[in-house]
Amino acid sequence: MNDAIRLASYAMDVTHTRGRRFPEAQHPYRNDYARDRDRVVHSRAFRRLEAKTQVFTTRFSDHFRNRLTHTLEVAQIGRTVAGALGLNGDLVEALALVHDIGHPPFGHAGERQLNLRMREHGDFFDHNLHALRIVESFEQRYLDFPGLNLTFEVREGIVKHSRDYSAAEFPELSEYLLEERPPLEAQLIDVVDEIAYNAADLDEGFEAGLVELNSLIDEAPVFARAYANVERSHPRSEKKLKFNGALKEILDHSVTDLIENTRAEIQRAGVDSVEDIRRNTKRLASFSEEAAAENAQLKKYLRAGLYENPAIVQDRERSVAALDELFLLYLEHPQKMPRGYTERARTEPVHRVVCDYIAGMTDHYLLRQREEQFRMRASE
Ligand code: MG
Repeated sequence: MNDAIRLASYAMDVTHTRGRRFPEAQHPYRNDYARDRDRVVHSRAFRRLEAKTQVFTTRFSDHFRNRLTHTLEVAQIGRTVAGALGLNGDLVEALALVHDIGHPPFGHAGERQLNLRMREHGDFFDHNLHALRIVESFEQRYLDFPGLNLTFEVREGIVKHSRDYSAAEFPELSEYLLEERPPLEAQLIDVVDEIAYNAADLDEGFEAGLVELNSLIDEAPVFARAYANVERSHPRSEKKLKFNGALKEILDHSVTDLIENTRAEIQRAGVDSVEDIRRNTKRLASFSEEAAAENAQLKKYLRAGLYENPAIVQDRERSVAALDELFLLYLEHPQKMPRGYTERARTEPVHRVVCDYIAGMTDHYLLRQREEQFRMRASE
C-alpha cells in the first residue's frame, strides 16, 4: 500500500505485525490496523465512553467533554504527531480510540475505589488491564472468535501505552514483551492524552467558573506568557476568546515540542527500526525538559485549583459513594446483577464479577442502578 512508502524506518509497518490470535483473511481495502481501529469504533465499550465523565459530571454543563469526545481529541492530535514523525497513523488512531475504554464510571476516583475494594479480596483493578479484558473477551460481536481479535501491537499498546508492567508481577502479561519498550505509536499516546486533557480541563474549568484567570496567570508562567501574546495581538477581544487563544497557543506549542523533541531523541539514540525502539532503554516519545516543566505547572495548577475544588470534590465523593454502595450490594447479593453476571459468579470469584459489571457501567447507568436497587431494598 502507498502508506507504507511514507513510513519512517522506525515506524511500525503493518505488514510486520505479529498478527491476531485467530488468523483472518486480509481485507481488500483496509490494512490490519485500520480494521482494528474500525472494530474499536464499532464496540459497545467505545459507545459507552459517551456517558463516562472525566472531571465534570453533566451537572455542570451538557456541552462539556465526555470520555468519547476526549478520545476523539486524542486521536486527532495523535494523527498529527504520527504524520509529522512518519509513524503509522492507522495504528496511532486505533490506540488513541481504544486508550480509555477500560475506564470505570467516574474517572480516576471510580478506579481508585474499585481498586480499594478489590484489594480487600487480594485482587486489584487497573484500567489498562480491564481494557485488555474488554477487547479479548467481553465484546462478543463476531461469529468466528471471542472479543475483537485485535492485532498484537494494538493489544500490546493497550497494556503498555502509559506504563511498564513487570513480568514478575504480571506473569499473565508475559506475551507482551514486557522487557521491551512498545513501538513509538504506543509511546506517544500517553503524552498526547496529557496534552489533550490539560487543555480541556482548563477550558472547561474556566467556563464553569472554577478556574480563575488571574490565579492561573500567577501560578502558571507558561499560561501567563501565552496570554500576554494574545493580549498583544488582540487587546480588545473578549476575555473568553483571549483565554481560548492562549490555550490554543499552549496546545500547539506542546504538540510541536513533542514532535521535535521525539525526533531529536530518535536521532540521539540512533534508532533506525522498530526493534531498536523496542530495545532502547527509555521511551523516546517525550517532551523536552522545558516543555515537561511547563506541563507540570499546568498539572499542578489543575490539581489544586480544579480537581481539588470543593464543588468538584463534593460531586466526586457522592458519585464514588454510589459506586461503593452498589459494589457491596452486589457482592452480598450477586443475583441482583443481570443473568450473565449472576451465572459467572457461580464459577468465578464474586468480587471479580461485580468489579467487571460495575467497571463497564456508564455514570448514568450506575446512578440509576443505585437508585433502583436501594428503592427496591427500602420497600422489601
Ligand atoms: Mg485519556
